[in-house]
Amino acid sequence: MEKFKTNCLVLGGGVAGIAVAAKLADSFEECILVEQNKELGSETSSRNSEVIHAGIYYKKDSLRSKLCIEGKRLLYGYLEDRKIAFNNCGKFILASSQEEIQKLYQIKENAYECGVEDLEFGNDLIKEYTFLDYHEHLFSPSTGVFDSHSFILSLERDFCDSGGIILKGNKFLRISRQKDHFSVLVNDLNNKIEFEIQTSLLINCLGLGAVALSNTLIEENRHTLKLLKGEYYSYSGKEKLSHLIYPVPKEYSLGTHATIDLGHGIKFGPSAYEVQEVDYSISNEQKPFFLESIRSYWPDIDANKLYPSYSGIRPLLENEEDFVIEATSLDKNILIDVLGYSSPGLTCSLATAQYIKDMLDEF
Ligand SMILES: Cc1cc2nc3c(=O)[nH]c(=O)nc-3n(C[C@H](O)[C@H](O)[C@H](O)COP(=O)(O)OP(=O)(O)OC[C@H]3O[C@@H](n4cnc5c(N)ncnc54)[C@H](O)[C@@H]3O)c2cc1C
Repeated sequence: MEKFKTNCLVLGGGVAGIAVAAKLADSFEECILVEQNKELGSETSSRNSEVIHAGIYYKKDSLRSKLCIEGKRLLYGYLEDRKIAFNNCGKFILASSQEEIQKLYQIKENAYECGVEDLEFGNDLIKEYTFLDYHEHLFSPSTGVFDSHSFILSLERDFCDSGGIILKGNKFLRISRQKDHFSVLVNDLNNKIEFEIQTSLLINCLGLGAVALSNTLIEENRHTLKLLKGEYYSYSGKEKLSHLIYPVPKEYSLGTHATIDLGHGIKFGPSAYEVQEVDYSISNEQKPFFLESIRSYWPDIDANKLYPSYSGIRPLLENEEDFVIEATSLDKNILIDVLGYSSPGLTCSLATAQYIKDMLDEF
């Protein structure tokens, strides 16, 4: 079997992997990224709402909070600079009961403590949406939507321009640890050939597969992965939106919201229910729950104009709300894990890349 050595190996070419790889490429003589699919970003990174989150819900000083607020700033700057389409449209969060009004105040207070001071009650733009039903509304002006596919392609170009090597259609199979390197077994699915990559710096951005790799190297059952599926439906009704419309957040998700794409088409999602395996098909059984959730703020939505669209799966961690992004020294090797990297991981991606670079600079 052929064996190759490299200075830095990134496993997984979703938004986390390619953002980190692009950030690190200049610091290493050689950096390789391995992705099983034929294109980067074709798993969770293209199965989401494409929302640039403001950073208003997450606990102060948590990684999610810090990386979201910094990531939002970096992302708007990057999109502007590279002329990638985005719409800083803002979003309304609607309270459908007295109890939910209290939650809006808590969200505003939390956002303020985290340093996001632009949330406002009483924005009159909501009045144009006469089909919505709500007791109170809170507006977040810095929320937006963007073209995440072009963003990932642009990061891919950045990485390649810095000399990075991308192995697409290459599946990571197994790993073992030697004193001064990891031996990483990879199957080139294009040619059905197995080969080994040796590296002393491994960055684990395997998304839904990241926990399994980390547990193999550090400690069996250290983390437990929980898969939370979310489905989207597109909407072909006559109503138009120029803003995102969210309910108040639910336990595991931000609620089934209405988002607009860059062409102002409306989609609803994501729902949130636990699954045992990765299956992106959309189940009709879920549609009644989905509708119930939308009707809490859009009572007359026409169910016949809602069409199943796509789904995504959140890689959550059991007993841990925050992302886990950590470096572990194993003999002379360094492992960087990106675990539980669910929403708002797209928004956070550039800040996550910087965070990992800073971590490595300390080693
Ligand atoms: C329903 C939903 C809605 C969301 N909405 C938003 C939002 O609006 N805004 C936002 O900021 N964030 C959102 N997110 C979060 C965001 O999409 C994720 O945080 C982010 O895409 C995760 O990126 P990743 O690179 O960690 O994972 P992935 O995109 O899953 O990338 C991991 C990569 O690893 C590859 N891989 C896995 N196993 C192997 C292997 N054995 N060999 C080789 N390659 C392998 C996969 O093919 C994949 O490409 C949402 C997430 C979900 C699920």
